[in-house]
Amino acid sequence: MALQADFDIKTLKNSELVAKMMGYEEIFWLNEGLSDNPLKNCKFQEKDIDEAEARLERFRPYIMKAFPETEQTPCIIESDLVEIPNMKKELIKLTDEFSGRLFLKKDSHLPVSGSIKARGGIYEVLKFAEKIALEKKMLSLEEDYSKLLNPEFTALFSQYSVAVGSTGNLGLSIGIISAKLGFKVTVHMSADAKAWKKDLLRSKGVTVIEYPEDYQVAVSHGRKKAESDPMCHFVDDEGSEDLFLGYSVAGKRIRKQFLEANILCDDTHPVFVYIPCGVGGAPGGVAFGLKNYFGKNIHIFFAEPTHAPCMTLGLATGLKDKISCNQIGIDGLTEADGLAVGRASNLVSELMETMLSGAYTIDDKKLYPFLSKLKDSENIFIEPSSCASFIGPALVCQNSAYLKKLGLTEEIMKNATHILWGTGGNMVPEREREDYYERGK
Ligand SMILES: *Cc1c(COP(=O)(O)O)cnc(C)c1O
Repeated sequence: MALQADFDIKTLKNSELVAKMMGYEEIFWLNEGLSDNPLKNCKFQEKDIDEAEARLERFRPYIMKAFPETEQTPCIIESDLVEIPNMKKELIKLTDEFSGRLFLKKDSHLPVSGSIKARGGIYEVLKFAEKIALEKKMLSLEEDYSKLLNPEFTALFSQYSVAVGSTGNLGLSIGIISAKLGFKVTVHMSADAKAWKKDLLRSKGVTVIEYPEDYQVAVSHGRKKAESDPMCHFVDDEGSEDLFLGYSVAGKRIRKQFLEANILCDDTHPVFVYIPCGVGGAPGGVAFGLKNYFGKNIHIFFAEPTHAPCMTLGLATGLKDKISCNQIGIDGLTEADGLAVGRASNLVSELMETMLSGAYTIDDKKLYPFLSKLKDSENIFIEPSSCASFIGPALVCQNSAYLKKLGLTEEIMKNATHILWGTGGNMVPEREREDYYERGK
């Protein structure tokens, strides 16, 4: 690894921007590599999304019985897309003017594990379980998958184990679904992980191993342990294609929600989506799904904390996963625990080079006021990480050079739709909620 040494900052691409990031300044980066047709040579295609969705469909009877709370959501593990006009008024006061409608995609409230990780994480474990059951000839594709709840299946799966490294929410998703199916499951948690997430997992029979170091260390320990065990499936957050495709199904399903909410996405009705980013898997998978169905008129932006901007750093320098925050002295310490990642996913940073419109960073101290205002104005609670995206609409709309370049006139921007992608919050215990809320007041 030639690049392990510290970098000569001055020689990096976008060195001025990097210097600002090193000073923990908020930055807004626009991707010059954005393509009108990023899926043309993409390793993933629509058929991959279809296949993932079909698999989730096969599991529908299982999910309904295993997690009765999903009976409300006809799409199984799916979230609402809601307009938040009161928050729009507050957001303009807290940030800057922007025109168009404002929505929240409530992946913060996904059933089973209350975060965006309920998409990819659960999908990957279901796929693993299906593969085993099919190989053992105990299941066929046409059968009612709710039979996987029967004791002979939990006995079968108990011979296997699942492992994952996580800052918290991915661990929750993998832990809950794996334990339900009967797998032995180990979650390797980084120092950033909240105590209540570890307690909750342990209460479900999950083995939680804690590391005093950051996310990357937790992942690499987890990976190493899993490699020595042929019966263990390691969910690799830094590069898993299954995770990625599980997230991408969101793009397919949201089409119906656009119709219901009367959201158009065409040359005169641009849609902007703002997603908090950690290692990149969740926002990347969602971005791919959205790009596949909506093309160039959907504009995707990622949001990261000023102290952990790994994807912005990787893309702006062109070094992708070959540069990490701590290699240039950025400490990775942030209140946004779900985003506390120092190095971007190899798989996702590559794909985002042509798909992403841009990325920006936000100071931690802004997260809590957004959290409280959303609660006050719309009565919706989300966790701090999930608020990282909220400065996006103002950043984009105030950037006249960018809008002009895209041919987005003031007239067109009045038709814009802005979607803040909520990524977590529904599992946060009451005591933490009150604490977060008070901090924002
Ligand atoms: C994991 C997570 C993200 C980002 O997902 P990555 O795949 O790590 O990029 C955003 N918000 C919350 C609340 C999360 O838990």
